[in-house]
Amino acid sequence: MGNPTRKKGLSEPKPVSDLPETESWHTIPAEQVLEKLQSDPKVGLSQDEVQRRQAEHGPNKLVDVRRKQWYQILLPQFTNVLIIILLIAAAIAFAVGEAGDAITILAIVVLNGILGFIQEWRAELAMEALQKMLSPRCRVYRQGHDHEIDAVDLVPGDIVILEIGDKVPADLRIFEALNVKIDESILTGESVSVTKSVETIGSDAPLAERTPMAWMGTSVTNGRAKGVVVATGMTTEFGRIAHLTLTIGEEATPLQRKLGVLGKQLGIFAIIVSAFVAVIGWLAGKPLMQMFLTGIALAVAVIPEGLPIVMTITLALGTRIMVKRRALLRNLQAAESLGSATVICTDKTGTLTRNEMTLKRIWLPASEISVTGTGYDPAGHFEQDERRIDHTQRSDLLTLLHTGLRCNNSSLSEDEYGWHAVGDPTEAALVVAARKGLHPDDHPRMLTEFSFNSTRKRMTVVEQLPDGMLAHAKGAPEVILSRSTSILDGERIRPLTDSDRESFMEACEEMARSGLRTLALAQRLLPEEIAFEEDAVENELTLLGASGIMDPPRSEVKQAISLAHSAGIKVIMITGDLPATAMSIAKQIRLPVDREVTGQEIDEMSDDDLRKTLSEDVLFARTTPEHKLRIVTLLQQEGHVVGMTGDGVNDAPALKKAEVGIAMGIRGTDVAKGASDMILTDDNFASIIGAVEEGRRQYDNIRKFVRYLLSSNTGEVTAILINIVLGGPLILLPVQILWMNLITDGMTALSLGLEPVETGIMQRPPRLPDEPILDRPGMFMIGLLGGYIGLATVWLYYHYLGHADPEKIALAGTVAFSGIIVLEKVNVFNFRFLRAPLKAIEIFTNPWLLVAVVVTVGMQVMVVYTPFFQKALHTVPLGLSDWGMMVLVSLPIFIIAEIFKRYRWQRHKMQTAA
Ligand code: ATP
Repeated sequence: MGNPTRKKGLSEPKPVSDLPETESWHTIPAEQVLEKLQSDPKVGLSQDEVQRRQAEHGPNKLVDVRRKQWYQILLPQFTNVLIIILLIAAAIAFAVGEAGDAITILAIVVLNGILGFIQEWRAELAMEALQKMLSPRCRVYRQGHDHEIDAVDLVPGDIVILEIGDKVPADLRIFEALNVKIDESILTGESVSVTKSVETIGSDAPLAERTPMAWMGTSVTNGRAKGVVVATGMTTEFGRIAHLTLTIGEEATPLQRKLGVLGKQLGIFAIIVSAFVAVIGWLAGKPLMQMFLTGIALAVAVIPEGLPIVMTITLALGTRIMVKRRALLRNLQAAESLGSATVICTDKTGTLTRNEMTLKRIWLPASEISVTGTGYDPAGHFEQDERRIDHTQRSDLLTLLHTGLRCNNSSLSEDEYGWHAVGDPTEAALVVAARKGLHPDDHPRMLTEFSFNSTRKRMTVVEQLPDGMLAHAKGAPEVILSRSTSILDGERIRPLTDSDRESFMEACEEMARSGLRTLALAQRLLPEEIAFEEDAVENELTLLGASGIMDPPRSEVKQAISLAHSAGIKVIMITGDLPATAMSIAKQIRLPVDREVTGQEIDEMSDDDLRKTLSEDVLFARTTPEHKLRIVTLLQQEGHVVGMTGDGVNDAPALKKAEVGIAMGIRGTDVAKGASDMILTDDNFASIIGAVEEGRRQYDNIRKFVRYLLSSNTGEVTAILINIVLGGPLILLPVQILWMNLITDGMTALSLGLEPVETGIMQRPPRLPDEPILDRPGMFMIGLLGGYIGLATVWLYYHYLGHADPEKIALAGTVAFSGIIVLEKVNVFNFRFLRAPLKAIEIFTNPWLLVAVVVTVGMQVMVVYTPFFQKALHTVPLGLSDWGMMVLVSLPIFIIAEIFKRYRWQRHKMQTAA
């Protein structure tokens, strides 16, 4: 039988509108707040109640004020300069009685606008989906259990657990606080963290002084706390200023900017040349209308109208592929930088290793003990000299296990799939070990916490006992040792001697050499009058012993390292762990390392020395995040493009500084994620290398379609200019060029953006970061192939024109128009592989390209044979032999280019062999 009052409470919930406004929560004692929100701090809300409140309050998210409305995407499609020129042209054409042309121009402009709108809208939706994946997670207490959930699912009344590094997921009224400090600069501008407490304060306190409150979007910099959600989504303080916490940067990438500049330059060039040609032609006695149309045709031919949209879509599709490869891009630029990365600095724990920690060995002054069992399953026992021991008789062991359990923020749970840990895996390993020897006990009373971070390399909590205060500390062995003055030897506490220090450090070194992560544990009974400050509490400790935690390397990392090596990317391990542990892991993953350098040695090095060291094969151990920042800076000064991983709060500056800051999706703190350019959803080093490969593929493909589009434009311009010199009738009409550039070429270029990874892409060195998008060989290729297209089109035109027989003008024009399209379709195969020749078997590796070719040629057939399009695009029907002629004229463009590539490829292979 359930509790009748409670039941009533659940079936007749209090509407939220009865709850006080956010402003007054800090004035009410925590118990009352919990009561008002009908939430039990020990159990949390039930699933039914959560659902009910979700229905009432909606998701805990900020309404995306930046989301583009449909008209914001549609309008710009019609407001760029080119479109305006075209609209003016249409108006003039209309005014001089060429209504047909005017309508066709308008129709193409509208069609292009709609196509552009659909594509961009889809890209926008893709970005939105990505945005959802970036949404933060948080730890809540529901139905009596610790869960990790998407912050968007929070409801008022939820009990949230906050830890160092967390972003506060909603507005909370804190009811338990352990030295919790919160950085509220995002809300108040104040950069010093605020210490939070449970006590109520006056109603007139400004936002920055409301200490019992934690505001959405701010970040925890120390300690831990529990709070009850009082406001979600737009009703939070953060919601009021309506920003987004984790947004995708929408800045143009350097490549987009470069292309933008190129587009503008071409635009200006187009206008000048067209005006010049038109005026000269007119002065030379040509009819004004014809020269006007020639000018427009030329302008349209010079500008690659399809380029910006193809670029946008390729990048948006690219982010989707990155997601499949377990990399969430926070800005589009990251893909490009990744493609040119020369150095990747990676941490060890969780990135190179699996982060599934098992405590294997315990060193105690009296003896060394092994622990059996694997993973988070608490089944296992303790052994000494390979024989099981009765741990209940070993008070030194139990004390160490007890401290490991207290100085801890993670928890274990079991479900039908097995045992799981929530929280830091290192700490979870200590909980598991404790469960192998201790009985679960009641809730301890904690007084304060000095949290772990990679700079402090230690963590301490203070527990209130009936007869005093006990500090439990754990951390890196040398850090704990330097703060210890006594040692627990068996059942006796005695002063720490030099020989104790030696044997302790020797034991830790030995564990580290076999690849174990070492952690020392210590305690201290605190004097009554002690101040709760780090240096006061974390001193005069009693050393209890050390633990060795196994964290095996990820199996796929070895291959990723060798791939990085062949791609000319240097991998540098920068870890907070001991040098010996790091070296052991480096060996296992075959990372070429000659020697290890510690953080302390870095401190002693001048910039020049460190620069020299960075050019060798080294790994960095016992480092702090500040070292990471110095390393990135120096590498960048040497011209490197750096990828840098990080997970902690203090990693943010190094992540921001690196060209590609890479945060860990699972292990990373919200702060690190916020500072990164890319988030790995599986924390795996191999995914970084996968993303590099994808980045290279995208850049390659952009280069391919830029060259392709420009070669088509060159072909069109060449044909028009030669024809002007020859004095023939207008070879290509503006409407026809528009049709080609916007419809048929755009589609084909898009399919080039979908080219799969080229073989050998990871066998070449990284691209130079300042490499121009069009280098000399690129321009040569464009000039040569474009030149051929132009000449072949003119040849076709004049071949059919015969001796200016007016009957034949329409036929010749149609052949030139269709011929140039066929030429461009054959030409696209030249851009599939910019270096290697095309092997027959590879023709089908990009089916999209074949589809694009078939569809666009099919559309051209439609244009030639249906009366409606014949009228609109000035075409006449063609015979089969005419198409045959076009194909014949087009084939050499592929064959000659292919022979040239083969010759160059052979030479390149011979050179590399030599
Ligand atoms: P990486 O930098 O490659 O991720 P890491 O996790 O070992 O390696 P840090 O997190 O800086 O690096 O940890 C440094 C040392 O601090 C560890 O070797 C361990 O001795 C200690 N340590 C790690 N986690 C904790 C913790 N939660 N509490 C106390 N000490 C810890």
